[in-house]
Amino acid sequence: MPHEVEPAPALPVPTTQQLLPRLRAWWELSARDLPWRSHDVTAWGVLVSEVMSQQTPMIRVVPYWNLWMEQWPTPAALADASSAEVITAWGKLGYPRRALRLQECARVVVEKHGGEVPSAYDELLALPGVGEYTASAVASFAYGVRVAVVDTNIRRVLSRVFDGEENFGGATTPADRRRAQSVLPADTDDSVLWNQGIMELGATVCTSTSPQCEICPFRDLCRWRRAGYPGMGTKPTRKTQKWKGTNRQVRGIVLNALRSKALELTGVAPSLSADELAQLWPDRGQLQECVVALDNDGLIEILSDGSVAFPR
Ligand code: SF4
Repeated sequence: MPHEVEPAPALPVPTTQQLLPRLRAWWELSARDLPWRSHDVTAWGVLVSEVMSQQTPMIRVVPYWNLWMEQWPTPAALADASSAEVITAWGKLGYPRRALRLQECARVVVEKHGGEVPSAYDELLALPGVGEYTASAVASFAYGVRVAVVDTNIRRVLSRVFDGEENFGGATTPADRRRAQSVLPADTDDSVLWNQGIMELGATVCTSTSPQCEICPFRDLCRWRRAGYPGMGTKPTRKTQKWKGTNRQVRGIVLNALRSKALELTGVAPSLSADELAQLWPDRGQLQECVVALDNDGLIEILSDGSVAFPR
């Protein structure tokens, strides 16, 4: 008879009180030194960092955030900038409509809140381009409001540690928010550290495909680890979006050509003539489609002679 190995008994559900001191010690030692985590960063700086990192890894955001904050340290400064400056400064962060939404947001902050980013969750949520995640992140990280922040990383860590289950992503549900709120430390300062720490742990240690349990502060309390990582690797993998030849690539080429001109010609509104445009991409039909889409998104303007420019 082969020797049968007894499965390890399941771990009890850990408590926030058990996890918090471990998380604090880990955070103090291991959190990345990102510029918007500095104690003197304004709520505006936090908001900009959150919008920039919505679809871009934080580490890529750093140089853009530094330049942006130097150029537009307040919402009022950004509100007065030209669209050309804003789209140019967004550089290669991707999804450039976010830049224009951020400027819209700055204008509303100036008009409705006297130039100060509001601290109340509901007021934050009412700003252009600010969803539940960003509103709660700014309320928590910038103002120390006790509110659960829920992003993909936090959901994954909470699900693994507390439930012993893999989290398969998708849109955040009301149940995800209730769960995150239910384990949030009662103390307000602790709640901020918890939000930041769990998010950082999910981004750097408890990653989706290769969790580094050996360096995780929760390793002896994590129910998912004890259960043998059920569901790991079974997530239906999304096909990697191809980039080459897509409209996204063509849109990026057109915007980059305008940006390069803007950087060369300071003080002059940059434009691309119809001939210059035609040289950017060999497929005329696709190029035209992308130019029209950029115009519809408010990222460029098509002028009467067929040239394009950043919107005024
Ligand atoms: S022990 Fe492993 S699976 Fe559990 S939270 Fe830490 S890194 Fe994630």
